[in-house]
Amino acid sequence: MEVKLLSYTNNPKKVIYSAARQCYSKLSAYKIYTDREKLTSGKLKKFISHLVKRGHLSPLEHVSFTFSATGLSRVCTHQLVRHRVASYSQQSQRYVGMDDFEFVVPKAIKSNKEAEALFIESTDYLKNKYKQIREILEKNIKLDKEKINQDLRFLLPQGCQTKIVLTMNSRQLLHFFSERLCLRAQWEIRELATKMLIFTKKILPEVFSAAGAKCKKLSFCPESADGCPLNPQKDKTS
Ligand SMILES: Cc1cc2nc3c(=O)[nH]c(=O)nc-3n(C[C@H](O)[C@H](O)[C@H](O)COP(=O)(O)OP(=O)(O)OC[C@H]3O[C@@H](n4cnc5c(N)ncnc54)[C@H](O)[C@@H]3O)c2cc1C
Repeated sequence: MEVKLLSYTNNPKKVIYSAARQCYSKLSAYKIYTDREKLTSGKLKKFISHLVKRGHLSPLEHVSFTFSATGLSRVCTHQLVRHRVASYSQQSQRYVGMDDFEFVVPKAIKSNKEAEALFIESTDYLKNKYKQIREILEKNIKLDKEKINQDLRFLLPQGCQTKIVLTMNSRQLLHFFSERLCLRAQWEIRELATKMLIFTKKILPEVFSAAGAKCKKLSFCPESADGCPLNPQKDKTS
């Protein structure tokens, strides 16, 4: 899986600061934003860290990050798009033919030669059938390519690789990380979250150094994850 940062809100720290400061000021956010003298990097850092600690999080919503993720499975993106406070654009299996689709092979399956061979045999089987059905449809039913792809995709496995662009604001990213960096979350979406966090932490450490599985904030595991190395379950905390 490859995750790239496409873009993020300009001057993110100044945007957060101005939005938050304006709540307690007679000045407009614009005046605060453009006051070069007062906005030192030390001041911004201290203010934003304090804001996050206090849980005054609405100013974070004005700063968004846009990522491009490729080489991940539809299993993963199906989980991703359950996060509703976000925007998505995903490669279509209707406009893009999937004749030679690539797929994600889970590590556990890869680790066993017999399992891996069976897995690859199964996906090869599906690929062949996909092509055969296309040929039949093209020959016998005069449908355009798009309509054929549209029906052929019913055959595609969830492990099929896909490409997706996603945009989340910083507050939602904190929530996303709290859900998907949990060791109970499925490995592929955890990998996606881990890669996204590396970018956001570099750009906004004041906000994202505190990010992590929800147990990080709670100091106990709200999931019934026995033996999780991060934090004990609530009834097992002393
Ligand atoms: C370990 C794990 C296991 C999971 N297992 C399953 C499973 O078995 N089956 C399954 O279906 N899902 C499962 N999920 C998905 C989970 O139920 C959520 O759908 C997903 O994590 C998105 O979370 P969310 O709704 O908080 O996020 P978002 O949709 O991004 O929403 C963010 C927050 O906005 C608020 N919000 C958004 N929309 C509404 C709304 N309509 N009404 C009220 N408040 C709203 C909520 O406070 C929400 O937390 C699992 C998730 C995890 C992390």
